[in-house]
Amino acid sequence: LSSSSSTAIRQVKLDKECELRIEVGMETPLRLRLLTGTAEIFGTELPPEIWLTFPPRLKFAVFTWYGATIEMDGTTETDYTADETPMISYVNVHAILDGRRNRAKASSTSDPDSCQGPRVIVVGPTDSGKSTLSKMLLSWAAKQGWKPTFVDLDIGQGSITIPGCIAATPIEMPIDPVEGIPLEMPLVYFYGHTTPSVSADLYKALVKELSQTLERQFSGNAEARAAGMVINTMGWIEGVGYELLLQAIDTLNANVVLVLGQEKLCSMLKDVLRNKPNVDVVKLQKSGGVVSRNAKVRQKARSYRIREYFYGLANDLSPHSNIVSFSDLFVYRIGGGPQAPRSALPIGAEPAADPMRLVPVNINRDLVHLVLAVSFAKEPDQIISSNIAGFIYITDIDIQRKKITYVAPSAGELPSRYLIVGTLTWIET
Ligand code: ATP
Repeated sequence: LSSSSSTAIRQVKLDKECELRIEVGMETPLRLRLLTGTAEIFGTELPPEIWLTFPPRLKFAVFTWYGATIEMDGTTETDYTADETPMISYVNVHAILDGRRNRAKASSTSDPDSCQGPRVIVVGPTDSGKSTLSKMLLSWAAKQGWKPTFVDLDIGQGSITIPGCIAATPIEMPIDPVEGIPLEMPLVYFYGHTTPSVSADLYKALVKELSQTLERQFSGNAEARAAGMVINTMGWIEGVGYELLLQAIDTLNANVVLVLGQEKLCSMLKDVLRNKPNVDVVKLQKSGGVVSRNAKVRQKARSYRIREYFYGLANDLSPHSNIVSFSDLFVYRIGGGPQAPRSALPIGAEPAADPMRLVPVNINRDLVHLVLAVSFAKEPDQIISSNIAGFIYITDIDIQRKKITYVAPSAGELPSRYLIVGTLTWIET
């Protein structure tokens, strides 16, 4: 295991089934290219000889099945070669899923079960490599021409859109290791908080809405149904987190549960799912390359993600600042604020706040720095069940003049006047 932070251009020779694990430096990007052989980053093949630029702080691995030479230019926090990886077991899972997709496609009946491709849900504790495995399975499938649906239920560190959301999108091409998931019209529901404990009921309701919408889309799209889903989940696997996992498996009709890096979770899931013979629970090894992130790093990552939404990965977007009157926008909150835990109440008392109540929010300076979702709802009573067009953030509230200043990704009128606010904040830095 060697670590380096030199800046000179250097070459690394990788033997077959080895990977080069890299953490890009904190300040400057890293350039990298494939000189000889073949290699991939989380399931997406590298083009030969073309320099790719990786932004600061990115953590990734360049893996080769048959051997490769890699050239790097720039500083890294660390880079080292590993010859022990779980990649063979991961690609074996892919092969089995692929067989199931082919069977689903070939199925001549219209029976929704037999023409349904695999619905894979990836579960495990935080920092077990769930998002990474999800991306690999999606990219390998896309490389073979499938268009699997990526469902991201991770409200803490989502890969489809900003934190605080659950979302789904078809993956039509191997995922770009720098750009990530393309943002063409994902299906997004706004939960508004980065931990599920704020309102588990709302979280469950949104998973249900998402699942019903996907089900409707699949019913008219045999290709998407046969390609199936890959579902990424939160690292929260105790208590309510475990309950939400079970709900997700059930609601989205997952039939393959991949458990990363936790024996106990695997045996618990095997146990509760044993009366569902069509659900396979498979334990997979966690990669030694997965980088652990503490609370502070996670908070930072969330903030970068929101910045990226408004400004683009390479500062290539220019969001617009707009000023409107209080009366132009209707802001709602879902649920009566954070619920008091039952344990904090007198015995027998029920928490008073209805977690699914739509509450109009008075516009005042408390909204400054909050990120709001723009709902597709046409009427307030559709807000909870509607998906999201996009996000704005509030930069100023002028009480005297009754004006709101907000920043949106583009100029012009918002697609709707109904906005949802949670506890998601962002301070531009
Ligand atoms: P969480 O549930 O906490 O969001 P997770 O289980 O989804 O986390 P990942 O996001 O997949 O974990 O991985 C954590 C970090 O480790 C990511 O930055 C990822 O790019 C990095 N990583 C994963 N696998 C490797 C590897 N083999 N080599 C280098 N870095 C890796």
